[in-house]
Amino acid sequence: MNAFPIKRIIADRGIASYGLGRRMLAHFPGASVSPADSNKHAVDPQNGKKILYLQKYKGDFLKPCPGTREYICCGYQILNVAANCPLDCTYCILQAYFLNQPCLRVFANLEERLPEVMHVIDSQPDRIFRVGTGEFTDSLALDPLTRWSDMLLPEFSRRENTILELKTKTTRIERVLALECRDRIILSWSLNGPWISVREEKGAASIEKRIEAAKRCQAAGFVLGFHFDPLIPYPGWKEDYGRTIELLAREIDPQRIIWISMGSFRFMPDLKPIIRRRHPGSSVLNGEFILGLDRKMRYFKPIRVELYRYIRGLLEAWHPDLGLYLCMESDDVWEASMGWSPKTSSGLREFLDQRVIKFFLSRGRAPQVLRSPVRS
Ligand code: SF4
Repeated sequence: MNAFPIKRIIADRGIASYGLGRRMLAHFPGASVSPADSNKHAVDPQNGKKILYLQKYKGDFLKPCPGTREYICCGYQILNVAANCPLDCTYCILQAYFLNQPCLRVFANLEERLPEVMHVIDSQPDRIFRVGTGEFTDSLALDPLTRWSDMLLPEFSRRENTILELKTKTTRIERVLALECRDRIILSWSLNGPWISVREEKGAASIEKRIEAAKRCQAAGFVLGFHFDPLIPYPGWKEDYGRTIELLAREIDPQRIIWISMGSFRFMPDLKPIIRRRHPGSSVLNGEFILGLDRKMRYFKPIRVELYRYIRGLLEAWHPDLGLYLCMESDDVWEASMGWSPKTSSGLREFLDQRVIKFFLSRGRAPQVLRSPVRS
């Protein structure tokens, strides 16, 4: 599989002593390889995705999602397996986050550092850790090469106070399907209207293919999640999102969906010139935006409410208990669009923790602090 046009590899010293490092080096025999020390500042942002940096990561592998204090956040934990993404969505916030390090960084020492991560989780048995690898990269795009799932699924699926969510826009499910781990593993797909997916999600699988892959994983015993994020209004958006939800309803068993999130397009102002430069044909900047409390641009409130309310209506007509939640929204937007609100970030954390208990833990085995009634 050589779907990624890697032309050059930058490697930290000793990277070949890691299995992941050796595999990646062997996979791109035509790429030039040079030591990191000599190249740190030599990456042109236009060509970032053609350069792979095999890094011995020194920071914390497990970190709370940056979220935002001004809006209601879900208390997710990010497992840092890589930074940047081989896909190239026009709206991707990582283009601004990693402006100064635009290459695809893969942390080759993950396996060596994983015991530290599991120690953090094991040392807090009364807390549920909702962990995902899909915030700073796509969770499965590189899996056939990195074999992240082989390293992570056995560790996470045998622990009772954590779930691992692998979020993707691809169909690279071969390795997860080959493993026997199903407990506390969630496979999630980011979805959008087909029009957005074709125009703005370069390198991603089509919506049909994503749902087909999700169906195969569900049939193989995995619990699924879906994320409608970023929702983007455009002429015909209602019909278009309706098509995606119709397809979901035709192919997927709603009773084995742990949650579906919705979030509308939001971005740091710095992203705007980057999108204009890197994706001149994109229409994601066409809407009416305001500067939010968290200094990110987002759609005017009535637009956000209309988006959420409409999508929620379609989803709830399909099934009333899908664990719907909003990503980074305010209490009043929750009330206006969802008909209820968790009020605070800890309220949303509890709602999602209860979904974990419902799907993965018998009530007697749930961590003590979480044995309260499930809202559905
Ligand atoms: S899949 Fe996610 S991380 Fe990758 S380019 Fe698209 S938005 Fe960015």
